[in-house]
Amino acid sequence: MTSVYDLTLEQLTERLASWGEPAFRARQVHRQLWERAATYDRMPDVPKALRERLAAELPLEVEVLQEREADRGATRKALLRLGGRHAIETVLMGYRDRVTVCVSTQSGCAMGCGFCATGQMGLRNNLTAGEIAAQVVWGRREAANLPDSTPQRLTNVVFMGMGEPLSNERHTFGALAKITGAMGLGDRHVTVSTVGIAPAIPRLAEAFPQVGLAVSLHAADDRTRNALVPVNKMWPLAELQDAIDAWRERTHRRPSIEWAMIDRTNDSDEQAERLAPIALRLRAHVNLIPLNPTPGWPSQPSPPERIRAFVAILEDAGVAVTVRDTRGRDIDAACGQLSLEHERASAPQA
Ligand code: SAH
Ligand code: SF4
Repeated sequence: MTSVYDLTLEQLTERLASWGEPAFRARQVHRQLWERAATYDRMPDVPKALRERLAAELPLEVEVLQEREADRGATRKALLRLGGRHAIETVLMGYRDRVTVCVSTQSGCAMGCGFCATGQMGLRNNLTAGEIAAQVVWGRREAANLPDSTPQRLTNVVFMGMGEPLSNERHTFGALAKITGAMGLGDRHVTVSTVGIAPAIPRLAEAFPQVGLAVSLHAADDRTRNALVPVNKMWPLAELQDAIDAWRERTHRRPSIEWAMIDRTNDSDEQAERLAPIALRLRAHVNLIPLNPTPGWPSQPSPPERIRAFVAILEDAGVAVTVRDTRGRDIDAACGQLSLEHERASAPQA
């Protein structure tokens, strides 16, 4: 059944008109759904009979299967079943000055990065624009339950959950339109992370010139990157850099480079020395993320002293670099892991 989150205001108005409801009702329901992140049972100004019909014919289609928290409640992770299909995960992270929701764009992922729990699952299905945006709505609702050391209000969205946003481009762009339109979140507070689907990057710049871009580079030469990120064989580093350049020219924004620090794989001085000129040319900010080990891949995160040496080389070259915190590690906040656990737990015993 179509989720109400997949409808535009115009479509909702049309549907309600066919039930004999005036246009103002549709605007009211729409505002409650997106701006207040309300569920049908929490819309006191909408008549009960209409709410019941909406729930029956235009359900939300968001089922919370499991919720876990970490970092003294400042990180919350939900396993959601969207549209009655496979489960996906969404993470909400509260900081002193902002609240960020991390959304999935696919159940699983076809890109096959070996170190990634989502990649190890393969692709199961694409999410629709409404299913992606519904996770942001969940985040807006859940933000009120964060500790009062945070703003308790959703401020940022990152497309860094399960799946590759730019291989589900149409629905990712549709979700961006809903998030920055109906929900009213500022484009500049939204970031799309990609493994490097080069041809889609300039299209993102064209469609959403204020939305941020993060590219998961992980290696600074094609041989190392081919091994970690198989799509590099399709769009090698030179082509990817040209695409990021085009994005930068169109948006005048600073891209981010994501780099999982993997012990004795991509954490050498040589990799840092090769990365520095790339980051400088692209005027990129580098985020280093210690690898979150997954059951399907034997590698370990780089030790702290290796990360320090890597950072020092980049900083000496004038590159802006941050070591990202591994927030929520005790609930496996890196992509893909919670739902893998869920599947294992629910798989029939052999
Ligand atoms: N498919 C997109 C977005 C989802 S992955 C992408 O690859 O960019 C979000 C980020 O998590 C990416 O930078 C990805 O490389 C990183 N990541 C995946 N598995 C990880 C792991 N086990 N440890 C650390 N980072 C990981
Ligand atoms: Fe897919 Fe991103 Fe995981 Fe690679 S890192 S398998 S692109 S989700």
